[in-house]
Amino acid sequence: VAKRGGKGRHAIYAREMNADALDRLELEADMRHALDRDELLLHYQPIVDLTDGRVLGVEALVRWHHPRRGLLLPGAFVPLAEETGLITPIGRWVLAEACRQGVAWMQRRAGTAPLTLSVNVSPRQLQHGAIVEDVASALRTTGFPPALLLLELTEGIFMHSDDSTLEVLQALKALGVRLGIDDFGTGYASLRYLQRFPVDVLKIDKTFVDGLALAEEQGDSGEVALARAIVALGDTLSLRTMAEGVEATPQWEQLRRLGCTIGQGHLFGRALPPDEVAAFLELDAEPRLRLLPASAVGN
Ligand code: C2E
Ligand code: MG
Ligand code: MG
Ligand code: MG
Repeated sequence: VAKRGGKGRHAIYAREMNADALDRLELEADMRHALDRDELLLHYQPIVDLTDGRVLGVEALVRWHHPRRGLLLPGAFVPLAEETGLITPIGRWVLAEACRQGVAWMQRRAGTAPLTLSVNVSPRQLQHGAIVEDVASALRTTGFPPALLLLELTEGIFMHSDDSTLEVLQALKALGVRLGIDDFGTGYASLRYLQRFPVDVLKIDKTFVDGLALAEEQGDSGEVALARAIVALGDTLSLRTMAEGVEATPQWEQLRRLGCTIGQGHLFGRALPPDEVAAFLELDAEPRLRLLPASAVGN
């Protein structure tokens, strides 16, 4: 082990920094080709009706099949894509691909209730309004019904928001799509913004849903109160509330009691490749509902 301290430690530190910086540069260079080389793909996580366990839709979640690093989750490359601006072409591809897949499922499932499609959008994609043409083009070229598309924005869009942000959101709404705030409760959304901006859905952040399980174990009503407050806020502003990261039956029960009617999480299903989603959709909602105690379901 090299000498820790003084110059020695400095050298080790510098070498690690260099390795990190090189790693980032390499990843960035690879990312520039990821689209041409068809290395990106989408997984889809089911979104369910919390009252009966039925699948209402799916959320598209991007993955990168990196030639040497394997399958990368968004945490490993989306932040860098946001910094470099590559998230704009990547996001454009995500929108088009998700809508294409959505139409393919609709055609195969003709006669069944149509599925909603949620797509994540970075604040960066809203700059200069590029997102409006990207969404319009994805809808136009695929024929996906705008009313079934939910764009998930993060509270980051409100950080430097001005009238131009409002105009972009209004232009998106004019296309007929719905807008949601993802990871709600963790960031910068003020009540004023929620009232002023054309938002339809609040997605309660997983950390609050985690708290619901703790509350169950520890009898801490403070955690439940936070989730309840978000649902009440949604009701007040006429917004739908959805819960993310539902992992356990007690959380599902609590959410139902709070009046939150839509959710997603490992309890219902993980993000899956498209062919496995198709199989998942064939499954009946009944087994999911059976996770709840009979008393909760009311029979
Ligand atoms: P998100 O939009 O909040 O998506 C939910 C994330 O939580 C997904 O991780 C999902 O797989 C994971 N998750 C769902 N249910 C559970 C659960 O019960 N327990 C746990 N522990 N995790 C759960 P993933 O796919 O790694 O995505 C992470 C984030 O990356 C997303 O968070 C979203 O902010 C971002 N992201 C994903 N796809 C895109 C994209 O196409 N564009 C942009 N801009 N961001 C994306
Ligand atoms: Mg999301
Ligand atoms: Mg989320
Ligand atoms: Mg989240």
